[in-house]
Amino acid sequence: MTVPIRTGKVVPLFPVGGAEVLVPREIRWPGGTEPCPAAPLLAAGLRRRGLRVADGIVLAGSGPPRHLPPHERAALAPGWAGAPLGVPGPALAVGHLCKGHGEAMRAELSAAARALRPRRVLLTAPRSFCAGVERAIRAVERALAEHGPPVHVRKQIVHNTHVIEDLAGRGAVFVDELDDVPEGGLVIFSAHGVPPSVRARARERSLRVVDATCPLVSKVHAEARRFAGRGDTVVLIGRRDHEEVIGTAGEAAAATVIVEDAGDVASLRVPDPRRVSYLTQTTLAVDETADVIDALRKRFPALRGPRSDDICYAATNRQAAVRAVLPDADLLLVAGSPNSANSRHLVELAHRLGTPAHLVDRCEDIRFSWLRDAATVALTAGASAPPGLVERLAGVLGGLGPVTVTERVTAVETLRFGDPATAGLS
Ligand code: SF4
Repeated sequence: MTVPIRTGKVVPLFPVGGAEVLVPREIRWPGGTEPCPAAPLLAAGLRRRGLRVADGIVLAGSGPPRHLPPHERAALAPGWAGAPLGVPGPALAVGHLCKGHGEAMRAELSAAARALRPRRVLLTAPRSFCAGVERAIRAVERALAEHGPPVHVRKQIVHNTHVIEDLAGRGAVFVDELDDVPEGGLVIFSAHGVPPSVRARARERSLRVVDATCPLVSKVHAEARRFAGRGDTVVLIGRRDHEEVIGTAGEAAAATVIVEDAGDVASLRVPDPRRVSYLTQTTLAVDETADVIDALRKRFPALRGPRSDDICYAATNRQAAVRAVLPDADLLLVAGSPNSANSRHLVELAHRLGTPAHLVDRCEDIRFSWLRDAATVALTAGASAPPGLVERLAGVLGGLGPVTVTERVTAVETLRFGDPATAGLS
């Protein structure tokens, strides 16, 4: 595709410091103002190529559209030309800033140009926050409102960069261990839960505790105690290093063994093969976990498990919603942070079903190359990712061409958990 480039005298409306390239989030032309919603992608792409990039608002002249010379240095803004540019079809707005970096600029600009096209965006539903995450965030907000900052939280309250940054900005202090909380102070336990050793340490230090452990995780803790109490080996299916698994395993440490996948099952050694129960991390992939349980059942025919599935409703619903849109999607983008297990599983599900998919913590993570052949993009969000992030992703795609947005609803969630109390631990 040949993409016309509109250039003109560019006047930055912000200090550009040592920047080599100016990527405007908004261009003011004589004929009007054009927002540049995809500018963060360009800025990030140029940074990855080693350029120093500034962003902000620029004033641009009104020269005629032309093609970008190879040596051009400029402010860049990918966009679908509207009235201000006066160019039918896709266009890139460019203005001068400084000399150098022609190759890097041209390469990124050309990647951006190839990503410009009309698109269909399919939003999956349900997506984003679950009841356990909402409850945990409310617990921190309530503590901040009632006690004022700082409020200490053990570990990330939920696994999401935006949630953590927002709460930290309002006075939450995230600590790895209780020894970092002042003696007698208030601490909030995260939605993923804690092992009993952490509760014991909170008692020793006379801490007041708000336990934001998700009730569905607490249910698994109770099952671990019950299964171990009747003399079973508890096989816990999940990631060894995940906070939830560490918490659940701690409930019956001597009786628990952890398996991560079906491959781990063959090497399991248990004291009595007739007395084995299984439990799962709440956010696993439904299909993969079924394979592990099948492998366990083959090795231990008397295997027992929880009355109802431990994979929680939110993980199950988000996976089903993604499964429903994948046949129509060229690409799946999952809003979520790298340490969010349920978000990662949505990406892995798409890969298993043959659709390209990427985890996107911030809009800037999107690469133009992903979008080149993607006429239909499905968007979803893991249970810990804020709903606004999906809207921002859709907005960025709208900066690369006209989009039609459709939502596919596969389930309606109404569950809401009550707030946890503040308590000294006895
Ligand atoms: S994903 Fe499920 S288990 Fe985890 S916090 Fe949400 S509702 Fe609770």
